Amino acid sequence: MAGGGPVRDADGMAEPELVDVVVLGLGVGGEEVAGRLAEAGLTVVGVERNLVGGECPYWGCVPSKMMIRAANAIAEARRVDGLGGAAQVTPDWAQVAKRIRAEATDDWDDRVAVERFTGKGGRFVRGSGRIDGPGRVRVGDQVFQARHGIVLGTGTRPSVPPVDGLADTPYWTNREAIEVEELPGSLLVLGGGAIGLELAQVFARFGVRVTVVEALDRVLAVEEPESSEAAAAALRADGVEIHTGVKAARVEHGAAGFTLRGTGGEVFTAERLLVVTGRRAHLDELGLDTVGVDAGGRYLPVDDRLHVTEGIWAVGDVTGEGAFTHVAMYQASIVVADVLDHMRRSQGGADPSGTASVVGGAVGVASSLAATGSSGSAGSVPRADYRALPRVTFTDPEIGAVGLTEQQARDRGINVQVGFTRLSSSTRGWIHKTDEDGFIKLIADADQGVLIGATSAGPAGGEVLSGLVVAVHAAVPLSQLRHMIYAYPTFHRAISDALRNLGQ
Ligand SMILES: Cc1cc2nc3c(=O)[nH]c(=O)nc-3n(C[C@H](O)[C@H](O)[C@H](O)COP(=O)(O)OP(=O)(O)OC[C@H]3O[C@@H](n4cnc5c(N)ncnc54)[C@H](O)[C@@H]3O)c2cc1C
Repeated sequence: MAGGGPVRDADGMAEPELVDVVVLGLGVGGEEVAGRLAEAGLTVVGVERNLVGGECPYWGCVPSKMMIRAANAIAEARRVDGLGGAAQVTPDWAQVAKRIRAEATDDWDDRVAVERFTGKGGRFVRGSGRIDGPGRVRVGDQVFQARHGIVLGTGTRPSVPPVDGLADTPYWTNREAIEVEELPGSLLVLGGGAIGLELAQVFARFGVRVTVVEALDRVLAVEEPESSEAAAAALRADGVEIHTGVKAARVEHGAAGFTLRGTGGEVFTAERLLVVTGRRAHLDELGLDTVGVDAGGRYLPVDDRLHVTEGIWAVGDVTGEGAFTHVAMYQASIVVADVLDHMRRSQGGADPSGTASVVGGAVGVASSLAATGSSGSAGSVPRADYRALPRVTFTDPEIGAVGLTEQQARDRGINVQVGFTRLSSSTRGWIHKTDEDGFIKLIADADQGVLIGATSAGPAGGEVLSGLVVAVHAAVPLSQLRHMIYAYPTFHRAISDALRNLGQ
């Protein structure tokens, strides 16, 4: 908008500014949608109240994996003993903290990301936005009327349990843990999910005394029990104390640090407390009531084209379909294709807004993009399909998984076959000879003769997973998987052993 602020009507109310699309929240998903629609020639307003790029590059995937890379290098150096000599390692957190500031986050500055978006033709507005009736978004005193739609990519925030006393303490979430420049002597981690375990192992490898407290009876409870055992064993080998089945009752903070008391009388103390007990969307802030959408849920329900309701799409963590960057990116492609498809169809008749000159170029792009969508058929938009959703817990060993776990498959009444093998019984696992073991677990639908889930844990578990993702995604017949050639001696060759072991 040219300087001078919004245009106002006689009552001093801001006049809505007509645009094609407004994207609320420019995290991974929102930035992708907004950028690609802008590149397609639409007038796109992208609204972000914090940093463009969202959680992943500043407090999530990227800096945490930098921390893990450093911690794994330390662990690997310590493995030289017994394999090829002796190595002495002196961990230095300052190098990690510096790399996160300098290389990952630009000291938590999003100038480059903003320019990336505006360079694609998008219009950036910094602020908190909310829907204000059909097609309308308010950001402070600016109001936008979106001709073709609103996209919500507003993500999640840490979900902090209602534990007595906790809210009044200076506990850490993932943000403080990622930003830390000087490590504490001891750390309590409340929550034994993927993020909690990854960070617990990193800090332990840098010499912090770490205790993980988990309410459920195993860590990594959404994955296979064997994954929980592998992760717990690896962390314990790194000196991490793990307590499962402990429900936090009260948290206190004083000069000596934190005290966490469990409902069973357990007491844990540490200098710092990291709370990583899940995340939740904050739907009540989005003005959903003004368009008749219920904001009472934990997430925003969407259909398989990411529609929330007429003219509104959602993308990323806010949809509750899997809190992963790759899910946000996958959904973004569908949203882009669907918005363009809607636009093309609405422009099929007369241009009701009289803005053909603004979007005329975009309509052409829209038709060609929609026509060459991933399904390849004219006018069709790919539908979201999460059957082969991959996920990786970047502990050491890495634990990759795709599709259903054994229990999930049995709960669905599927005629399940399970194949299991330990990496240590494969040639590569035996040669590798480290304290980090792994395994391959396959879940097959015996009636269909295909894999419907798999786990690959090991030194490169996340990479080994890729073949299994293809198998589940494309429903490759088991007979074909059995008659493939698996390179020798690789970690992934263990998949052929697990296939041979498939049984009830
Ligand atoms: C420690 C950690 C490690 C992780 N590691 C991985 C990993 O290894 N691999 C992986 O795939 N995923 C990982 N994730 C998850 C990943 O970060 C998220 O899945 C991803 O960031 C989701 O993107 P999003 O666009 O949905 O939301 P977000 O990244 O959360 O972005 C949402 C944006 O919307 C903005 N916003 C919210 N409301 C408004 C509003 N009303 N107006 C304007 N702006 C608003 C927010 O400020 C935010 O920038 C990790 C997460 C954490 C916390």
